[in-house]
Formats: sequence, C-alpha cells, structure tokens
Amino acid sequence: MMELLLASSNPGKILEIKEILGESFLLKGLKDIGIFEEIPETGKTFHENALLKAEYVYKKTNLNVLADDSGLCIKALNDAPGVYSARYAGEPKSDEKNIQLVLEEMKDFEDRSAYFMCVICLIMKGSVYYFEGRVDGRIAQYPRGKNGFGYDPIFIPNGFNNTLAELPTEIKNQLSHRYIALKKMKDFLIDNV
Ligand code: IMP
Repeated sequence: MMELLLASSNPGKILEIKEILGESFLLKGLKDIGIFEEIPETGKTFHENALLKAEYVYKKTNLNVLADDSGLCIKALNDAPGVYSARYAGEPKSDEKNIQLVLEEMKDFEDRSAYFMCVICLIMKGSVYYFEGRVDGRIAQYPRGKNGFGYDPIFIPNGFNNTLAELPTEIKNQLSHRYIALKKMKDFLIDNV
C-alpha cells in the first residue's frame, strides 16, 4: 500500500480524496502527523499555490506529499475570482458573500461562461509532478440548490440545466475538477510505482 500525505487539515477534503484514491493508498492528513499550522498560500496561480503547500510539507517531513489548489474562473471577469476564490469578498470567508459579489459583478455581462480548475502538485521521491482538472460551465442568474459548498449554487456545468448545488453529490463528485485531477494522479501512480 502506498502512503501519501495530503497537505491539508480539512477533514471533508481528506475523505473525498480517500474515496477517489481507493484502497491501494494510505492517505494521511496534516493533523495525523502532528502538523497544525496554516500553510501560507501566497501564489498568483493555482500551480504556485499547490507547489507552495506541497513543498512546505515535504521540507518538514521528507514524505511523499500531495497538495491541491482550486477555484472558479469567470471569462467576463478576466478569470477572477481564480486563486482568490475562497476569500473573494474579503474576511471573514463567506460563501454567500462571494456569490453575491460575483453575481453583482456579472450583471452587465451576457457571456456567463466559467470553469472550475484544480491543480494537484505531487512531490514523490523528491520529484515534482502536476495534474490538472477542469470543468466548464456557466454562471447562473441567481443561486439555486443546497448541496455542496463554495460557488456550487451558481455554477451550471455544461450538459446540465441544474447548478452543482442541485445535483446529487455522487454526480457532482464524478464530474468535478478535483476528481479529474485526482484520477490523473492515481493513474500515474498506478503506472509508475
Ligand atoms: P481550495 O483549493 O479547496 O482552497 O478551494 C478554494 C475555493 O474555491 C473554495 O473555498 C471555493 O470557494 C472554491 N471552490 C473550489 N472547488 C469548488 C467546488 O467544487 N465547488 C464550489 N466552489 C469551489
């Protein structure tokens, strides 16, 4: 069984990734190995942030580490909120305020196309690898649905009429940017280890 350390303390994220990776991998979170501090995310791109997090933990532990960074990119807003997705409307972090700000900024735009992006950085035996996942769609006129988190209530994936927050969790997880990136990493690990 391959042991991997996820550079995150978010229990929801650890569980989601565990489920995708399956039983051939033993995934640990930062708390499992006694790291409790917040890792700075000061990068300007998803790649930079994923690398920052993975490197920070790799330097401390020398273990095989993965880190992800993700966010929503909206064409009419020049790919904002992007890496600032979590705190787009400022502190304290609020999904509701972020959504209201995006809808306000979008009100004069006809082109509502957008995508979610996820970049995973894996540091294995000292080498750095990246895996990307993207899901395309459009921004709804107003929030709909109760499932999920973040911008799910205003994101309608291509091929659907519902927002991600209206779709069952299993369907969302199967088409998500995180799932696509993780699946690529899993296939890489199975082929290369
Ligand atoms: P992180 O990479 O997990 O820190 O995600 C950054 C931010 O992007 C989150 O706080 C959300 O606002 C947004 N985000 C990332 N993935 C999703 C998703 O699957 N649905 C909705 N919002 C997301």
